[in-house]
Amino acid sequence: IYQLMANPAMEDGRLAGAVLVLLDVTERENREQLRREFTANVSHELRTPLTSISGFAELIRDGIAKPQDVQHFAGNIYTEAQRLIALVGDIIRLSQLDEGSVGSEKTDLRLDGMAASVVSRLQDAAAQHDVTLRTELKPCRVHGIAQIVDELIYNLCDNAIKYNRKGGSVTVSTAEENGQPVLRVADTGIGIPAAEQDRVFERFYRVDKSHSRAIGGTGLGLSIVKHAAAYHHARVALESTLGTGTTVTVTFPRPGEA
Ligand code: ADP
Repeated sequence: IYQLMANPAMEDGRLAGAVLVLLDVTERENREQLRREFTANVSHELRTPLTSISGFAELIRDGIAKPQDVQHFAGNIYTEAQRLIALVGDIIRLSQLDEGSVGSEKTDLRLDGMAASVVSRLQDAAAQHDVTLRTELKPCRVHGIAQIVDELIYNLCDNAIKYNRKGGSVTVSTAEENGQPVLRVADTGIGIPAAEQDRVFERFYRVDKSHSRAIGGTGLGLSIVKHAAAYHHARVALESTLGTGTTVTVTFPRPGEA
């Protein structure tokens, strides 16, 4: 898309010359289009839980809910409120990563130690899904922002558990490969269709909308992973086979090149 800017110069009422500037605005148009879509999606994602909270609260307030249902309805209100908290947190994080305003300095971090910490926090969630968490952690260091790297690892492991199958497993590994720190999260889960493997990194894109919502996903987890990796000049590669599992590999720059 080109924007035409004409600047005619007049002399004695006659056209003496003109400057034409062709400006490629494709990039700008694309960014604006993405922003519009994002705003529309956010409004929808916020409205759905709010409508549900308001509906259940109204039933309780007006005494329409039977006494035996009140606790169940309150539980629904709580779940939807938790969804909103997660969603708002993810939206704030994404906009910070977009604007480069994360507000902390990069420091030297132990990737293996951070992965171990995430895995221990997710043990209960894994047990609930009947999924075994394994680790193969070799020492390696990255230069990064602790909270952002933690969220990156957490989101990948959380997905590997959520989109797994009963009796499945997740292997989290860290190692230096060709001098570069590498984090790998491999699962034996449901996999992602080839045609959708790029799209899952888009904001609010979900392969199975109702399944993702039912298990509490905001639809922003992998977007945050993508932006968090870019913030650290890291590369993200996703390999997946439908019905077999998914492996996400994040390759950080060599220490000193970050
Ligand atoms: P969500 O909050 O829905 O999990 P994400 O951005 O983290 O959002 O992921 C987007 C979609 O990608 C998910 O809804 C799911 O369909 C798919 N997905 C992500 N990780 C995995 C995985 N490890 N295995 C299978 N599907 C996955």
